[in-house]
Amino acid sequence: MNSGETTIFSRIISREIPSDILYEDEHCIVIKDIAPQAPIHMLVIPKKSLPRLFDACDMDQNLLGHLLLIANKMAKQMGVEDAFRIVINNGAEAGQTVFHLHLHILAHGGIKGSFSESDLSN
Ligand code: AMP
Repeated sequence: MNSGETTIFSRIISREIPSDILYEDEHCIVIKDIAPQAPIHMLVIPKKSLPRLFDACDMDQNLLGHLLLIANKMAKQMGVEDAFRIVINNGAEAGQTVFHLHLHILAHGGIKGSFSESDLSN
């Protein structure tokens, strides 16, 4: 699978199409899922367009760790740090529909609102 392919997520990252962006830094964005499967359903999306988790290599180790730490911080900011799930669908047969790596964060807590990168630096 080629990286660098245009997907809905690369078009959201480049602002070609609008999205509800909750967080952004140099390496990733976090958006609200357009079809939420839980009261809180966010997607952590790397700016590097790896099609699937399985396409990651040793060079992506820091990036993958970063995505998980951002998921932690988002969960904390939403007040659901004690009860959230991370899901990564890898491959069409596992339910992946957008071939640009993303982490689903799913939780049932109340949303406190959106916030900036500096809010997450604690
Ligand atoms: P997956 O099935 O794991 O590939 O997840 C893709 C996710 O992207 C689904 O939960 C979709 O609801 C979500 N999605 C697709 N298009 C958009 C969009 N334009 N904005 C936000 N989320 C989207």
